[in-house]
Amino acid sequence: MEKLSNPKVTIEIIQKYNFAFQKRFGQNFLIDGHVIEKIIRAAEITKDDVVLEIGPGIGTMTQYLAEAAGEVFAVEIDKNLLPILAETLAEYDNVTVVNEDILKVDIAALTGGRPVKVVANLPYYITTPIIMGLFENHIPATSITVMVQKEVAERMQAGPGGKDYGALSLAVQYYAEPYIVANVPPNCFMPRPNVGSAVIRLTRHTEPKIVVKDEKFMFKLIRASFNQRRKTLQNGINNSAELSISKDAVVEALRKMGLSESIRGEALTLAQFAELSDLLCE
Ligand code: SAM
Repeated sequence: MEKLSNPKVTIEIIQKYNFAFQKRFGQNFLIDGHVIEKIIRAAEITKDDVVLEIGPGIGTMTQYLAEAAGEVFAVEIDKNLLPILAETLAEYDNVTVVNEDILKVDIAALTGGRPVKVVANLPYYITTPIIMGLFENHIPATSITVMVQKEVAERMQAGPGGKDYGALSLAVQYYAEPYIVANVPPNCFMPRPNVGSAVIRLTRHTEPKIVVKDEKFMFKLIRASFNQRRKTLQNGINNSAELSISKDAVVEALRKMGLSESIRGEALTLAQFAELSDLLCE
């Protein structure tokens, strides 16, 4: 069939199945083939790859993925899309559509534990849980190339000092190297989202970039440090409900690291958070 990236074809399918877009599932379908080609290129998909697509929608990007990849697993929560996907993906025998919630599905079982490349135009309401779930559950995802809200992409890629830098930047950069591939305007989607979008590629580190004694403790420290942005690091950590660390202990650790006791979380690099974590977790 003709590609769904042609808006006319998308409209025909939507009307044929009388499909009603569900806002609660973050349904904004791509209608621009150039954007999809850019995503596939950035993800460097080849016939040797197994791809996990989160939220295929009516199958617009899945059609391109099926042509580029060896095998595609597409996890879609909305059961109303299943008959549509059966039609739009009928000519591809390398696509498995699974009607599940991506936050609940056992991805390793689905893909046989093989390394996967994750590619998606994400439902924006659950971007962070999806990405953190992929990292923290140790899914063998070598790269994650996804469309997200523009601001979220900027936060993922931000370095110390700026307003975008925070817990999400540090969490993402602990596991992967972020690279913003392209900004994408609302008119590339149907219906149009009311925010700007961007494609970001997260390439998983093959070796951990930072070694820390207690990963969970470090992330508690990071969250505490950014909870109250205008506060100093020692106040943020001291006020955290997740931790019980005195201001004196923080000041002492900062002194050992050669940092000012009035420093704020936004000034610390990931390596410095790891060092602080090692000093405080004992
Ligand atoms: N890939 C399609 C495209 O680019 O045109 C659709 C992208 S749309 C932004 C997000 C898709 O994710 C929708 O099809 C939506 O139903 C699906 N979705 C939302 N929440 C989900 C979840 N928890 N698990 C799996 N799919 C989900």
